[in-house]
This record gives sequence, structure tokens and C-alpha cells, in this order.
Amino acid sequence: MLKFVKVGMKMPHKRDAAARRGDFDEIYDEYKPEKAAEQASRCSQCGVPFCQIHCPLHNNIPDWLMLTAEGRLEEAYEASSATNNMPEICGRICPQDRLCEGNCVIERAGHGTVTIGAVEKYITDTAWTKGWVRAPKPRRELDQSVGIIGGGPGGLAAAEELRRRGYQVHVYDRHDRIGGLLIYGIPNFKLEKYLVERRTKLLAEGGVRFHANTEVGRDISFAELRERHDSILIATGVYKARDIQAPGSGLANIMPALDYLIASNRKGLGDAVPAYDSGELNAAGKRVVVIGGGDTAMDCVRTAVRQGAVAVKCLYRRDRVNMPGSQREVQHAEEEGVEFVWLTAPEAFVGDGTVRGVRAHRMRLGAADPTGRQTPVPVENSAFVIDADLVIKALGFDPEDVPALFDCPELAVTRWGTVRIDHKTLMTNLDGVFAAGDIVRGASLVVWAIRDGRDAAERMHRYMQAKAAGAVSEHARAATIAAE
Ligand SMILES: Cc1cc2nc3c(=O)[nH]c(=O)nc-3n(C[C@H](O)[C@H](O)[C@H](O)COP(=O)(O)OP(=O)(O)OC[C@H]3O[C@@H](n4cnc5c(N)ncnc54)[C@H](O)[C@@H]3O)c2cc1C
Ligand code: SF4
Repeated sequence: MLKFVKVGMKMPHKRDAAARRGDFDEIYDEYKPEKAAEQASRCSQCGVPFCQIHCPLHNNIPDWLMLTAEGRLEEAYEASSATNNMPEICGRICPQDRLCEGNCVIERAGHGTVTIGAVEKYITDTAWTKGWVRAPKPRRELDQSVGIIGGGPGGLAAAEELRRRGYQVHVYDRHDRIGGLLIYGIPNFKLEKYLVERRTKLLAEGGVRFHANTEVGRDISFAELRERHDSILIATGVYKARDIQAPGSGLANIMPALDYLIASNRKGLGDAVPAYDSGELNAAGKRVVVIGGGDTAMDCVRTAVRQGAVAVKCLYRRDRVNMPGSQREVQHAEEEGVEFVWLTAPEAFVGDGTVRGVRAHRMRLGAADPTGRQTPVPVENSAFVIDADLVIKALGFDPEDVPALFDCPELAVTRWGTVRIDHKTLMTNLDGVFAAGDIVRGASLVVWAIRDGRDAAERMHRYMQAKAAGAVSEHARAATIAAE
């Protein structure tokens, strides 16, 4: 069995069990205020806050670091939550090495970044336990209602912003739990599920109405939703897994990453998962090969380690420098015993009904493509076989065919299948229908989905204000005509 060498790893399920009981106090971490203040005080308050510029939410990082350093945590929380609907989640799972921390001037000067994400997490976790995080409470209720399709971070951020403004907000999701990939994609060891459930509970307390197990296009039509609500937000994410067409790809025990991760997450949440218990979607005792070099692949290899795999290898066709996943994640995976097989691509799967190995060949990096990225080229006569009892395909995701799923062929999409929006109004080509998150930008990040959700909420508010004003003036005009 592979051994964990990472220090401070948490047992995943205890906290979720407490969360299911609604006992969020029991799962309060033992924080170390001195450590947070010490980190926060390392910020040089430089004139040009590169960290803030490179945070998709443009969080006012220098301010909340200063407030934390001074022990003014409630104010730090007010500042951090002013621009972010889920700071404790971003603090945990943003690839900070590519965003805020990677651009910290102290990091650039070679002294090691201020640990911005950890401080953000600390501030908000403290805020939760102190009762500073409050449900949205609008100053006045409005008659207008909004239908949000998709309860991932994009949909949830929009729901909170619109509810705060007084709209009647309904979130529809095809899953049994709200949270999108925060619940069923990202593994528990990176993001404990009680954190997501606590957020949705708060929104429900604030009056957001959730309709789980409701797939738009199957359980309710898109046309009906448009009738029901004054405006609509499509925040459905991207779920069509990219596949490998290679000999042997129909063998048993070759599976898409999301099936594998959903089974693991469901198990962690206490659901009955027969395919996990039977071993079909469980890496225990197996030699596992994960194909891909993105964050999903990293989540699969690290999940396999935790399930007790005997060996975990990650095959990626480019080299370490050119992989899309976070370098920090690679480092964690390596520390946990994962072996990376760089510059290698699969050409066939071998086995006798069940997969027994992956035949792969070496690659080298050739000429750059129009984006400047070097194209991997196969090296002749370099084939070799890697033993495997379980192969997980983590090659990324494309959008589903939303116009077909919604029975709405007039909804415009781009040539990649993402929903097309006007980048000023954030509205699709259908009046009152907006879109946000992965379904607009393609597979991306939680922090970008939150940003999009916030921006869309703001534009939907403007749209509905204009609509209400139009309705009022229509009404006034009708009244005037009647009086005449
Ligand atoms: C395995 C994995 C790990 C990741 N790790 C990270 C990470 O560490 N850090 C990070 O920043 N990002 C990570 N990401 C990316 C991140 O999760 C996404 O960018 C983000 O969740 C997108 O948010 P969203 O709201 O657009 O969509 P989603 O989170 O995908 O939510 C969309 C929701 O829409 C629902 N839906 C879809 N179609 C319908 C329909 N017809 N009717 C009703 N509901 C529907 C879905 O059930 C889902 O709940 C990861 C992604 C994956 C797959
Ligand atoms: S939201 Fe993400 S990028 Fe922005 S400050 Fe927090 S951790 Fe950094």
C-alpha cells in the first residue's frame, strides 16, 4: 500500500457526519490566531497590489491582511466577504500559486508568499464560529422572481446576491444535493462537504428556495421556467467527459473521472454506493493509472491513494512545466507516493475482459501551436506497457448540448458549445436569459464561477429594474388612457 507522508491530513468523514446532524460547532477547527497574524503581518502593503489584481474577485487582500495582523478580525471578515460569497471555500481550493499568492511581491522577491488563501480561510472560519456570517436578509421583498438553473458556485453566488436585493430566488438542480462540483467533483480531503452544506443552509434560511432532483429539460421544461420567472440564469457547468478512442477502451475497469469521484464523494457523504462497495469504483488494493494532467487527474490520483491503491501512476503527454494542473497539487501527490509518467500517451488498453495494462508510447515536445504551446509528438518505437487494474480517464470536460437538452434550438452557443452571451449585458440571445460559470467560459475554476455569478446577478438586477420600470410606465400609460 502507498503511504501518506503528508502531515496534518484530516480524516474526511467525521466532520461530514457532524455536519449531517447540523452540528457545525462540533467541527470547528483548532485555529492558531498567532500564525494567521504572523502571516498577515508579512504583507508589505506594496503600492501595486499584484495579489489583488490577479485574484479573479479582486479581493481587497492588503486591507484584510492588515486588519488580521492588527487582530481586527470582524472587520477583516467584512472586507473579505464584501467581494466573495464563499471566502472559506476559495481559501481552501483556489490554485493560489497561479493567482494571488503566485503574484505576491514577497514571493516574487524570493522570500516566500504571504499565505493569502490560508489567512482568508482562517478569517471566514472564525467568522462562522463567531456568528458573523449572516443569511441574506433583504430590506424589502420584491415581487419579481428569478430561476437559476444549476446550484454550483456560479448559481449560488448569483442566488445570494439577488436574494440580498429582495428578489424571489429559485435554484433548480438535477442532483439530490446542492453545490455542483463543490459537492460531487472536488474530493472531501480538499473541501469538506459540510462547508458547502453550511452555505446552502444559510441561503435557504435567507429565503432562497432550492429545487433539488429537478432537471431542466426533463422534470420541468425550460419554456415553463421562462414563463414562471422574470429572468433566468443558466449556470449548468460542463459535464461531457472527453474520451479516448483506442483499442481495448471497452474493457471493464476503465472509467471516467467523474463517475469515480462522485462514487467516492457519495460514500464520504454516507450514501449507499453499491459500485463502490463491490470494488468497481474503488481503488483499494489496485494498481491505478490515471490519464490526464489537470486538476481532475490530481484529484483522482490523490483519492486513489486514500482508498488504499497499491500503486498510482499519472500519465501525461506533456512535461511537468506544461501541465494544466496546479504545481502545488502535483507536489502534494508526489509526497503521497504518486508516480508521474511525463511525456507519455496511451495507445491501447490490454486485458482479457478486464483491463490489465495500458500500452503507452513516449512523446516529445515539438513545434509550438498558434497559442504558443508546444505540441506533443509521438516518439517512434517507444511503446511499453504499464500494469493497471483500474484506469481512470481524466481528460477534461466539454459542454453538453444545452439547446437540445432544453429543447430550445434558438439558444445561441459558441463553436465550442458554451452558451454565448453578450459580454456587456451577460445576457444570452434570449430576452431575460443570462448565463454564468463554466457553461460560459468552459471548464474553469470555482473563483471564476463566483465572479461570473456575482456579475450576472448585477446585470439581472439592472434588467429586472428596467423591466419593472417599463411595467410601471406601461401601467401609468394605460391608466392615463383610461382616464382620458
Ligand atoms: C474533479 C474536479 C476538481 C476540481 N477542483 C477544483 C479546485 O480545486 N479548485 C477550483 O477552483 N476549481 C476546481 N474545479 C473546477 C470547479 O469545480 C468548476 O469550475 C466550478 O464548479 C464551476 O461552477 P459552475 O457553477 O459553473 O458549475 P458546476 O459546479 O458544475 O455546477 C453546475 C450545476 O448545474 C447542475 N445542472 C446541470 N444541468 C442541469 C439541468 N439541466 N437542470 C438542473 N441542473 C443542472 C449540475 O447538477 C450542477 O450542480 C474542479 C473541477 C472538477 C471536475
Ligand atoms: S479568492 Fe482565491 S485568488 Fe482570490 S484571494 Fe482568495 S484564494 Fe486568492
